[in-house]
Amino acid sequence: MPKKKHPGNIGGTVPTELKITPHLVPKPLWGKSAAQLFKGKGRAVWKRIRTDALQVALHACQVCSDPGPDSALNCHELWDYDDERGTATLVGLRIQCRNCDCAVHMGRAEKHGFLNVAIAQLCKVNGIGEPEAVRLYRRAKGVWSQRNKKQWQIVVEKSLLERYPGLAALEAC
Ligand SMILES: [Zn+2]
Repeated sequence: MPKKKHPGNIGGTVPTELKITPHLVPKPLWGKSAAQLFKGKGRAVWKRIRTDALQVALHACQVCSDPGPDSALNCHELWDYDDERGTATLVGLRIQCRNCDCAVHMGRAEKHGFLNVAIAQLCKVNGIGEPEAVRLYRRAKGVWSQRNKKQWQIVVEKSLLERYPGLAALEAC
């Protein structure tokens, strides 16, 4: 069976054995997420999605196994970008502790002065050295700046839509 592409990968060029890679959301897609969609009125839906994800994750970080508590665990949205088609697909959810979330959202971490925390966690969970972590981040930023110039169409994977029909509204964002 062919190895499935890791949803956290950037442009499919990062080896699949990496547990996490920096995920920089293209600017045109900022604010377009399930968490944002279900803010306010739809809160109960997001709560259900998060509760389901926490259950699947056995209430621990799915990257480094940090046991939480639940309040310190984030429900991260896994998006897959197809640069040729210009589609951003919500493919799944992953429970992440704060440090792993920091490492994944490295652009945001840098903005808020936590780049060192993010780099350290990226090294720790992937078993890589700092130069490689820095290289991964630099590459992610390069891909990000290209993706910022494009128009994106949002798609939600079928299994998620079947489970949470409200997610269909994301495709109209
Ligand atoms: Zn973690």
